[in-house]
Amino acid sequence: MEVLIKGLEYVVTQDDKRRVLRGASILIKDGEIEDVGDVKGPVDEVIDGSSMVAIPGLINTHSHIPMTLLRGVADDMDLFPWLQEKIWPMESHLRPDHIRAGTALGVLEAVRTGTTTIFDMYFFEDVVAEVLSDLGMRGALSEAIIDFGTPECKNVDECMVLADRFVQKWRDHPLIEPGYGPHAPYTVSPERMREISEKAEDNGSTIQIHLAETEKEVSDIKEKYGKGAIELAHEYGILGDRTVAAHVVWPSKMEIALLRETSTLVSHNPVSNLKLASGISPVPDLVEKGVRVSLGTDGPASNNTLDMFETMKVTALIHKVSKRDPKAIPAQTALDMATRIPGDFLRWKIGRICKGYRGDIVLLNVKVPWWVPLHSVVSHLVYSARSTDVRHVLIDGKVILRDGKFTKRDEEDIFAEAERASLDLLEKSGVKSLLKGVD
Ligand SMILES: [Zn+2]
Repeated sequence: MEVLIKGLEYVVTQDDKRRVLRGASILIKDGEIEDVGDVKGPVDEVIDGSSMVAIPGLINTHSHIPMTLLRGVADDMDLFPWLQEKIWPMESHLRPDHIRAGTALGVLEAVRTGTTTIFDMYFFEDVVAEVLSDLGMRGALSEAIIDFGTPECKNVDECMVLADRFVQKWRDHPLIEPGYGPHAPYTVSPERMREISEKAEDNGSTIQIHLAETEKEVSDIKEKYGKGAIELAHEYGILGDRTVAAHVVWPSKMEIALLRETSTLVSHNPVSNLKLASGISPVPDLVEKGVRVSLGTDGPASNNTLDMFETMKVTALIHKVSKRDPKAIPAQTALDMATRIPGDFLRWKIGRICKGYRGDIVLLNVKVPWWVPLHSVVSHLVYSARSTDVRHVLIDGKVILRDGKFTKRDEEDIFAEAERASLDLLEKSGVKSLLKGVD
């Protein structure tokens, strides 16, 4: 199967020289980028690239996809009442059908907003993987592990059995990279963290964990163990070049050095951190010290979208104001954090438009007022672009979004199923949503 994307306005390659090519075409053969430049057919499918900019598909390195069902149920609340009164009661009623509905909605949202690879940590991860596989989306997925159990498992031993089974089942899948998801150092004991890190090392799988998200987490861990959350996780083997540390809002200087030494991938989630008032991660310091930093949205209950264009823009903006320095996190750095940096973390060659990389490509329509005049493609991508500019999305060389239309399932069906699943969770849990004045 050969696909030719012909005569693009620009191609943002994200190669080592960060070249932006004008008027180039892209040839994809059997899912892999065969050539970029002055390429011609004959091929099986031609996509007209005029009025379009091509970028590598965006990579969202932290999410809880099925939480699309909890979007907007409760906002503008303190973290603990929000969790205890709203989120946890609804989550306790989650069953595989809810997960299926919420994941399909999340995949549709991610694809329509230019994301081709999504990281996820949640319950019933086997169902999440099935939906991604059916809909042709790439994912790095981790089964959540919590000491007091999850909606899927009564206790942590059961969680471990599920996680092992999940990793074994999906390890050779072409679109899924399975891993372990120890939730956080305040919900998973140090001994359990040690066991997980040894297992992940043995079978070469990834680890996703929340680390140093709130000031309270860091002070609680310090009181209990006499050290920081990141330091504790490191002591029990969790940090490493196959680990994603989500949030990292409150690292100490010493912990920043640990993240660098271990080549841990940090997932910066600025929108969630702003919405839950967790704080502002010292990302410019992390970058300066050589830590690998990528971008994530977190779950849609705390964002409330999976929109990586918004995430890139917020990243480039908040660090300027927090440092009082407009040079902090330039547009190119924000784009690298959403493409080539997380791309290098995974086992596939993704995150760049170069020969030999997978055909994960997003095309944006630039014949809209906010792209004119087009002096700098990269600046526009971060500061001007809107996710609704996305017209075509290819994952592994297959067209998943064609001219704004999802090719894998009927969108209305996905919406209806998600509405039903969300209402069912509200009803079963007795949680009142924010909907007011509507019968
Ligand atoms: Zn999270």
